[in-house]
Amino acid sequence: MRTCDCNERHDRRRIVLTGGPGAGKTAVLELIRQSFCAHVKVLPESAGIIFGGGFPRGEAIEFRESAQRAIFYVQRELENMADTENPAIVLCDRGTVDGAAYWPGGVGEFFSSLGTDLDKQIGRYHTTQSFIFERRPWMGGTIVAILCGLRQPSRRRQLTR
Ligand SMILES: [Zn+2]
Repeated sequence: MRTCDCNERHDRRRIVLTGGPGAGKTAVLELIRQSFCAHVKVLPESAGIIFGGGFPRGEAIEFRESAQRAIFYVQRELENMADTENPAIVLCDRGTVDGAAYWPGGVGEFFSSLGTDLDKQIGRYHTTQSFIFERRPWMGGTIVAILCGLRQPSRRRQLTR
């Protein structure tokens, strides 16, 4: 990380990189972390914190749901914490929307289980470009891990097809 003597108050932009395992997110983020100054914050992946920290794994629906909720809350708090350090850009290794692709009961149920909705969560993110599309075979090849930052419903529809 390069040092930087800028003292301005930044207008923070939160950007999500999302994608399947092996899509290259972590490598890209590591390169960014090394190349930019401290005002570009790169967050760790919350799923890695949860599972790496020993959160139980299991195939039962209750296990999978608990894990996805835990990942959501950790992600949200990582983002909240990053905001306190005057970042210009916060880069997220997946965002609060990603869990919808892993939720056994589908996208709508994921967000209602968390007391929120897709629009609110997408609204947390700024970017409309920096994401990698992810398909989940068990969702019939139709839907997907979503596209953080896509605020225009028409584009979102196009991309979730
Ligand atoms: Zn800087």
